[in-house]
Amino acid sequence: MKILVAVKRVVDYNIKVRIKADGSDVDIEGVKMGINPFDENALEEALRLKEKGIATEVVAVSLGTSANQDVLRHSLAMGADRAILIEASADLQPLAVAKLLKSIVAREEPNLIILGKQAIDDDAGQTGQMLAALLDYPQGTFASTLQIEGDEVTVTREVDGGTETLALALPAVITADLRLNEPRFVKLPNLMMARKKPIETINAAELGVNLDARLKLIQVSEPAVRKAGIKVDSVEELLSKLRSHEGILV
Ligand code: AMP
Repeated sequence: MKILVAVKRVVDYNIKVRIKADGSDVDIEGVKMGINPFDENALEEALRLKEKGIATEVVAVSLGTSANQDVLRHSLAMGADRAILIEASADLQPLAVAKLLKSIVAREEPNLIILGKQAIDDDAGQTGQMLAALLDYPQGTFASTLQIEGDEVTVTREVDGGTETLALALPAVITADLRLNEPRFVKLPNLMMARKKPIETINAAELGVNLDARLKLIQVSEPAVRKAGIKVDSVEELLSKLRSHEGILV
């Protein structure tokens, strides 16, 4: 079984991004970048399936500029067998990503495709769903457990008030939730070794996909500043303020 995992390069999750002075976008100039956290869960799950002898090959794919080589090296250091970079402009939108992934699926013919449930930069949460629709494959989104038996993958998803378990016929598209697993720590020697591994590079233009933007970013703004809270001296005072709504932010 071959597993394809999509890994996006995003601003490191520890960084508090700043907005450009003109509000046209966030400013990522000189900011630390890394692998999208949900994609690390996706890759970890694929690697565990390989370690259990269920998968035979794990291929990581990233779409963007040559800078994306760093997340592919990270994926190789985690244990991916191969890495593919689809070179295109940095700001590909979910539909373009899904179409490009579809053409990689046609080339690689994986049995399972695992993506993150969302990229933490744009919080779109669309690519896996679009890819499944374009391929006409079943989809198990926001997976918190995953099990493969024969030609079927069983996925548990967290839904309002409980969990939902779905059985999907392979090939299928899964999107990973953080609860799926705890990604392994990448050791320095593995990172050094990954530097020497080849990364197959494909120019997006060769794939004959329309990459035109469908969405226009109009403005980015900071969330409203929260007003300072107040301290009360007693429970009675708190209750009285709650009842009168005095000083309470509603
Ligand atoms: P999104 O729909 O943008 O929130 O992204 C959902 C998932 O799609 C991510 O967690 C990645 O697995 C995958 N994805 C989106 N954009 C890219 C990209 N440029 N390169 C690789 N994977 C991507």
